[in-house]
Amino acid sequence: MLGLMQNRPLLISTIIDYAATYHRATEIVTRTVEGPIHRYTYETARTRAKRATKALNRLGVGPGDRVGTLAWNTHRHFELYFGVSGMGAILHTLNPRLFPEQIAYIANHAEDKVLLVDLTFVPLLEGLLPLLKSVAHLVLLTDRAHMPGGKLAKALCYEDLLAAEDDRLDWPEFDERTASSLCYTSGTTGNPKGVLYGHRSTVLHSMAACMTDVFGLSARDCILPVVPMFHANAWGIAYAAPMSGAKLVLPGPKLDGASVYELLDGERVTMSAGVPTVWLMLLDYLKREGKQLPHMNRTAIGGSAAPPSMIEAFEKDYGVTVIHAWGMTEMSPLGTTGHLKGQMRDLPYEQQMHYKAKQGRGICGVEMRIVDDAGKELPRDGKAFGHLMVRGPWITAGYFKGEGGNVLHEDGWFDTGDVATLDDEGYMQITDRAKDVIKSGGEWISSIDVENMAVGHPAVAEAAVIGVAHPKWDERPLLVIVRKPGVEVDKPEILRFLASRLAKWWLPDDVAFVDEIPHTATGKIQKVALRERFKDYVLPSAGRAAD
Ligand code: ADP
Repeated sequence: MLGLMQNRPLLISTIIDYAATYHRATEIVTRTVEGPIHRYTYETARTRAKRATKALNRLGVGPGDRVGTLAWNTHRHFELYFGVSGMGAILHTLNPRLFPEQIAYIANHAEDKVLLVDLTFVPLLEGLLPLLKSVAHLVLLTDRAHMPGGKLAKALCYEDLLAAEDDRLDWPEFDERTASSLCYTSGTTGNPKGVLYGHRSTVLHSMAACMTDVFGLSARDCILPVVPMFHANAWGIAYAAPMSGAKLVLPGPKLDGASVYELLDGERVTMSAGVPTVWLMLLDYLKREGKQLPHMNRTAIGGSAAPPSMIEAFEKDYGVTVIHAWGMTEMSPLGTTGHLKGQMRDLPYEQQMHYKAKQGRGICGVEMRIVDDAGKELPRDGKAFGHLMVRGPWITAGYFKGEGGNVLHEDGWFDTGDVATLDDEGYMQITDRAKDVIKSGGEWISSIDVENMAVGHPAVAEAAVIGVAHPKWDERPLLVIVRKPGVEVDKPEILRFLASRLAKWWLPDDVAFVDEIPHTATGKIQKVALRERFKDYVLPSAGRAAD
């Protein structure tokens, strides 16, 4: 017997309609690519989203067509989230940090029909244009006064397109499973693969993002997503903010400490979200300038592990609670968020840190389990670690155009490629990417744990641990360190520091100091590049072992 509730479809257009109706005058503030700060309201955002729909229709875009963007977090990009998906077309957010050849591969694979681009990427575009096969119209996300000449003189001007339309439009209704947006994973191995979100998955994921023990968003919040709108829909914040009626602050192209601080302070931001490398820049700025964050009460950190030293700096020095978050493009992206339970509130801070440093508890809607190499489920005891498998309504069932074949295991489980523990309180902790674990004498060493400890040393700006070949143990850890500017520290000092905090056999066999650690287009340490750089590295212990 079916229930007797109304079968209204879960559509993204209902989110902007809600915000424009019930949070009409709530602001969206943008640091524009052109420079000045821009302000408007959810009501105006909806008006412009509808005009964008009409303008794109006029360019020949219809349901199912892919519309590419190369854009920062701005009000124009926000409008397109609703203008494109609202009509049943698919918003394809391209990551401008990729190489031009990769961007071209992705845009061609997606068959983007129209490409909308921020001015910042005009130089990138000039090299990209000859490689693009499907793009019929190029639109620059700016006004007439800022339109460039040269090779792009024929490009269309976004503000002109919008000015030519009105907002008389009723959003169409269609199946809630219709595709809404497309985001390619950076594909550290093989070609990038497209994750195709749907309206239903997006609305459910946005509701989850608003939950108290996830981002806890409300109409009293002012939220600044540092995480880009070209990376997994800014972790869902682009939808969750209007869904909750929170004021939204969009930082545009400037993500340095001073620029982010200016908005956090000036706009009275209460909540933010970003990857650890961005927060390093902010923390560094705050310390150098002696600034505080009186309005902010929490920030989500994810994409890579948030080291305990970073969590502690936010919480103790600035009174900002850290929500450690884990997820992936394939999961829309939210999977877990770290909040303490009631009975943990009175624990000493070090014991709370035991939980805070973990990636968090599963969000209702995300099922998780860990399995061994044979697929057998492992205990939830906080010790056993295995392949982390997930299942749920906002988790991918397959990649765009069938790339990678059938990605689901028996009973619909998706292998995240992460290795993790699950404890009896429901907290998950990532020990590694499966491909990054260090296999020493048949046992696994967690590179993340060692990195977290190393960045706790006051002289260490960034740390990465990779496995290096070893004649006796197969692999042993090499610690690669970037020192903080102007600070001296040597290998014995680092090893002494770690010796008191790590199991003896987890201690790196050597420490290499470098000027810079390479990062991927989504801000993660590029282990593949590091392994390549150190592939012929001979550990001091390797010689001794051969004796
Ligand atoms: P990319 O395109 O760079 O792969 P994703 O956001 O999809 O971007 O990357 C997802 C992966 O990032 C996860 O599978 C996990 O390995 C890593 N990750 C995300 N959040 C965390 C976290 N809080 N701690 C450790 N690793 C994380």
